[in-house]
Amino acid sequence: AIAHPGAYIKHHIRTVPDWPAPGVQFRDITPLLSNPKVFRVLIDMFVHRYFDAKPTAIAGLDARGFIIGSVLAYELNVGFVPIRKKGKLPFTTVEETYELEYGSATVEIHTDAVKPGDRVVLIDDLIATGGTMMAGRKLLQRLGAEVIEGACIVDLPELGGSDKLRASGLPLFTLVSFE
Ligand code: AMP
Repeated sequence: AIAHPGAYIKHHIRTVPDWPAPGVQFRDITPLLSNPKVFRVLIDMFVHRYFDAKPTAIAGLDARGFIIGSVLAYELNVGFVPIRKKGKLPFTTVEETYELEYGSATVEIHTDAVKPGDRVVLIDDLIATGGTMMAGRKLLQRLGAEVIEGACIVDLPELGGSDKLRASGLPLFTLVSFE
């Protein structure tokens, strides 16, 4: 068994300075995915967190939320719902636009992806300003689903996103923080 899984996972996240822009410390999770033992520890932490909560679906945010979210959904024996950047989903969608530091971004969900009464876990790799997860939650709520928790691997608490999400009433489960 791994004594400190959070520290073990943090140790396998690679920080790439000044990518994709000067001043950004990019937290790269690909080393977590390529190492089968670390990948299993990572997914198992989410499986244990949500096994008893019995969500009816897992929704993942484009694109790294798809990787962990789909494996989690498979393990929990529920369906997986992608929330995608605008222009990728073929069927009818609802969309939500949110502000970025420079400009804006739009995410979409298929209108039949969830239904009223669904209890959904919304997952991504990382929370920075929280804008992406906030938009994803709004889409799920607009379709009548309840987001029982937001989940991610990495929180960047100094950017205030996780505080903002919690203040809005969304419980959050985060494995690792970088100051
Ligand atoms: P935000 O909407 O500001 O919370 O940004 C979160 C989204 O942007 C997630 O989908 C992350 O994958 C990505 N992201 C933002 N900042 C970083 C970072 N420093 N390292 C890796 N991914 C990031």
